[in-house]
Amino acid sequence: MTHAFDHDVAIVGGGPAGSSTALHLVRSHGIRADRIVVLDKARFPRDKPCAGAVSQLGVDTLHALGVRIDVPFVAMRGVRVLFRGAVGETPCAMGIVIRRTEFDTQLVSEARSAGVIVRDGEPLDALERIPGGFRLGAGRSAFTARLVAACDGAGSTTRKLLGLREPERKGHLYVLDTPQRPSDDATSRGLIDFDLSVLDDGLQGYTWDFPTMIDGARSVSRGIYHANIEPGGEVKASLARALARRGIDIATVKLRPFSTRPFVRGSLLAQEGLVLVGEAAGIDRATGEGIGQAIVMGGIAARHLARALRTGGTSFDAYAREVRGSTIGRHMLQSAWLARRVYGGRLGPPARRLLLHSTFARDAAMRWYNGSSLPWSTKLRLGAGLALDRGA
Ligand SMILES: Cc1cc2nc3c(=O)[nH]c(=O)nc-3n(C[C@H](O)[C@H](O)[C@H](O)COP(=O)(O)OP(=O)(O)OC[C@H]3O[C@@H](n4cnc5c(N)ncnc54)[C@H](O)[C@@H]3O)c2cc1C
Repeated sequence: MTHAFDHDVAIVGGGPAGSSTALHLVRSHGIRADRIVVLDKARFPRDKPCAGAVSQLGVDTLHALGVRIDVPFVAMRGVRVLFRGAVGETPCAMGIVIRRTEFDTQLVSEARSAGVIVRDGEPLDALERIPGGFRLGAGRSAFTARLVAACDGAGSTTRKLLGLREPERKGHLYVLDTPQRPSDDATSRGLIDFDLSVLDDGLQGYTWDFPTMIDGARSVSRGIYHANIEPGGEVKASLARALARRGIDIATVKLRPFSTRPFVRGSLLAQEGLVLVGEAAGIDRATGEGIGQAIVMGGIAARHLARALRTGGTSFDAYAREVRGSTIGRHMLQSAWLARRVYGGRLGPPARRLLLHSTFARDAAMRWYNGSSLPWSTKLRLGAGLALDRGA
């Protein structure tokens, strides 16, 4: 049988979004693996600046796909919210913390073992529409594909080559790792810390301390997330102060800066013949997280790509609708709404106090994080908690 295109689907980017899309296409929808190509500019194992917290939703989606996570991880056993020395703690299974180098390499290797063509070390540098599909260029080679899945993350070249506008300002992060120290009591218990004290510096976000495992040693991933909804804020100076409160001199650590694309109401998810998946579309604006979301979105994208291959269709409007209506889509939209009000607006101080002092509020936040929709009774009680807040 001859094919008009070199590949049925070209997946640009072999991170969680790209590997999940490829694995779902093959394992859940029976698409011929050798008709799918994953193109990545980096050679695996590749580094990726990240704290590595994978939500339970993401872990469950991989399990359902038959992926057993066989890289080192630390189970997240609960959360602490901190602000100016006050602490609210809630035990709760929340997923795992992995190292992205190992995790992403496992996923891309699984796709390769399933027969998917993985071309790593080859950056996409040209993309044009041709009748019925696309021509892609990577270095000196060019190939064609009927459909394209843009899974190339925050810096998405696919978006740039197609001239797709950014829906909103990007968030900013710095990340670093340190060995676990005796004062890291919470992370040694598997808790993840979100410290909101940076709000006092005019930032919109938090600093984090997550337990992690580096080369077999318990370590701590730390960093700062600034949602950057409004311009301003000295992110690095604020991180320096936060680290100093932990007894760490910023000059002694290796910092890595990065940006994130938020998922908002106007986020673009599809064009003719093209789906945007994972951070190429956007991630959770309040938390800056998106690994689990990318994995889940890959599953939705694969279903629509497989249908298009079978029917010859090229419209992915239904994909965009399904993502927005899915648990992760609704949660990311709620998160974008909340981020604007809690980080920037008048809801900030009461929401912060509620998270610090109300076990009920933290429990609800954890159920929401784990993918549950909150019943109206819970929403009303949270709303009443915000409305009745008397300050402190
Ligand atoms: C500092 C930091 C901490 C974070 N911590 C967390 C966390 O704890 N939990 C969480 O859930 N999320 C976290 N995130 C967000 C998380 O990193 C993203 O949500 C996640 O990586 C999205 O996965 P993805 O597959 O969409 O994109 P990526 O993981 O970014 O993968 C994109 C892939 O595309 C490739 N690529 C890029 N350009 C090209 C090109 N031109 N040609 C070919 N390939 C290309 C890249 O090499 C990469 O492999 C953090 C982000 C940062 C920056």
